[in-house]
Amino acid sequence: NREWVLAARPDGEPDLDCFELRETDVPSPNLGELLVRTRYLSVDPYMRGRMRDAESYAEPWDVGDALKGGIVGEVIESESDAYDAGDLVTGEGRWADYATLDADDVAPVDPTVADPEAYLGVLGMPGRTAYFGLLEVGEPQPGDTVVVSGAAGAVGSVVGQIAKRNGCRVVGFAGTDEKTEWLTDDLGFDAAINYKTTDDYGDALDAAAPDGVDVYFDNVGGPITDAVFTKLNLDARVAVCGQISHYNDEEVPTGPRKLPQIIAPRAKVEGLLVSDFATRFEVASERLGEWVAAGELRHRETVVDGLENASDAFLGLFAGDNIGKQVVRVAPA
Ligand code: NDP
Repeated sequence: NREWVLAARPDGEPDLDCFELRETDVPSPNLGELLVRTRYLSVDPYMRGRMRDAESYAEPWDVGDALKGGIVGEVIESESDAYDAGDLVTGEGRWADYATLDADDVAPVDPTVADPEAYLGVLGMPGRTAYFGLLEVGEPQPGDTVVVSGAAGAVGSVVGQIAKRNGCRVVGFAGTDEKTEWLTDDLGFDAAINYKTTDDYGDALDAAAPDGVDVYFDNVGGPITDAVFTKLNLDARVAVCGQISHYNDEEVPTGPRKLPQIIAPRAKVEGLLVSDFATRFEVASERLGEWVAAGELRHRETVVDGLENASDAFLGLFAGDNIGKQVVRVAPA
């Protein structure tokens, strides 16, 4: 059994020296637990916060700790009546070939709805973040203009599509032409801005969102967010989901710089945590599953092959290597 551990805390941008792949024994499941062989594991931006020795919503990892995260895998041995060997499940596992999971904490994976890896993206935590974050914090109304940053990622790509279902004009920011074309050509976004080749985000927003911005779903922060704040309409809602452009900062940046811009529009800026909606996860999963099965909600996963490449896949999130959800294929079906 191979598993990744935190070898060192990063100083600024993490690199491969922060990670170490070590050999351990295959764990044995206790009563109520499952031994699961990992098929796919999820790498997520919030894990950068766990590498830091600071209080946050996700508990920090200690140096030497095994790295944890969402997985999809096959039950190899079951000490629970709820699952049998051979079942596919998803839950909180490890960056490892094998992990033991409490049967109460996993959910079944139905490969007839979508490929198993989708249960780490659109049908997993990122999809639920998009669903509750947009609908309950962003509160989009038909006719609203919704702007999404990090739009071609796991959360953002779902946010934009749900906003379209709700009759909104949708504009996304993403970092390559391939991504912006995917947003407009395949996902139905009305406009998409490549923030790496655009000089003036304000001008780009004037063209893409001529009626101003009613909802801003923020995954990234930084200069994109500064620009969107200058375009907010009366009673706009800003759902602050992530700030990936700051996750590697060692110094706390000065700001928020554009708060004066929310005064006249009386905009509401609200942070969100997907875990706050845990009692209603099943509702979201059911609806997202229906939309995916009906072909109404599109999704994409970027797959890196091999557990040994998990740290590379994680670092790729900060370089924008992924389109849709970044996953690592650990074992073939
Ligand atoms: P993504 O799939 O969106 O992957 C991260 C993407 O961020 C990259 O592909 C890259 O795309 C973009 N990015 C990286 N650096 C920058 C930068 N400096 N400026 C602008 N964009 C950048 O990740 P997720 O969908 O999983 O997560 C999106 C955000 O939501 C993250 O900030 C995450 O922390 C947050 N989140 C919050 C949750 C909550 O409960 N609050 C739950 C889940 C996620 P590009 O090519 O466009 O640059």
